[in-house]
Amino acid sequence: QAKADGRGVFRFYERGMNKRLQRRRALEAELRSANLDEQFHLVFQPIIDLGMNKVTAFEALLRWTHPTLGPIPPDEFISIAEDTGAIVPLGEWVLRQVCLETKRLPDDISIAANLSPMQFKRDDIVSTVARLLEETETEAHRLELEITETLLLEDNRKLHADLRRLRKLGSRISLDDFGTGYSSLSYLQKFAFDKVKIDRLFIKDITKSADQAAIVQTILNLSYTLGMTTVVEGVETEEQLRIIRAMGGSEAQGNLFSKPIRSEEIAEFLAEHKRKRSAA
Ligand code: C2E
Ligand code: MG
Ligand code: MG
Ligand code: MG
Repeated sequence: QAKADGRGVFRFYERGMNKRLQRRRALEAELRSANLDEQFHLVFQPIIDLGMNKVTAFEALLRWTHPTLGPIPPDEFISIAEDTGAIVPLGEWVLRQVCLETKRLPDDISIAANLSPMQFKRDDIVSTVARLLEETETEAHRLELEITETLLLEDNRKLHADLRRLRKLGSRISLDDFGTGYSSLSYLQKFAFDKVKIDRLFIKDITKSADQAAIVQTILNLSYTLGMTTVVEGVETEEQLRIIRAMGGSEAQGNLFSKPIRSEEIAEFLAEHKRKRSAA
């Protein structure tokens, strides 16, 4: 009986696996041949300075709508694009769109783009960024670059140098998803980031869990001591926001302020935010 069940389960998994593998292969091929302008677009999520209650930046988030498969979640296609190398042209497309988008925003608002570790490994990311800034006539300080901790695990002197060169161009560097993966507090000091983004994992239960609250408070204190701005990600409720404010968090991002929105919706969002701000 148990044996038969085992085999049944195995066959079930095998079929599921095949399906998943097939989809993956299909997406790999599609990513190689897709017309980026037609199938991809960016959405933008505001980042709020809590002291001034002002929008300081938007994070650009990539969206893929396949003509027959429909929307593909970033968590699915980004890793495929990384494995196949498609992330290099795709990432460059993102950076160009972000540079162009800054021109539609007020001068004091920047845009953050996510960079994949592969863009450091398979591309000379520094010259790519420099070229795009020049081509699009964008001031470097309008562009923020988000990198994840996994990148820091790898080598390296080259990474160190690349990050320094990117900062020297005038762009700010944020450490994204801090606290997940193989994070180490020593990274914060070693790499001298401009910003640390605390992963939303830690915010989720901040109102209920004293441990989570203590972790966030510790990261905030340390970042402050090291002269870095903090962005608390994934703020969804007023109660979470109250706690983060009380803890001295400098910036926040999350669905409480706005979900990621289309370029066309930004002006209206900024106007509305301003209205609420002067009413408050
Ligand atoms: P991320 O860079 O940490 O981006 C934040 C993610 O949290 C986004 O998911 C955003 O929609 C989501 N989020 C923001 N506020 C809230 C909230 O209050 N509640 C909840 N539940 N979620 C919230 P998204 O857009 O699905 O992106 C997932 C990840 O995909 C990103 O995480 C980033 O690592 C990656 N990604 C997105 N766009 C790009 C890109 O252009 N290049 C690269 N390399 N990676 C990208
Ligand atoms: Mg990010
Ligand atoms: Mg993040
Ligand atoms: Mg993330």
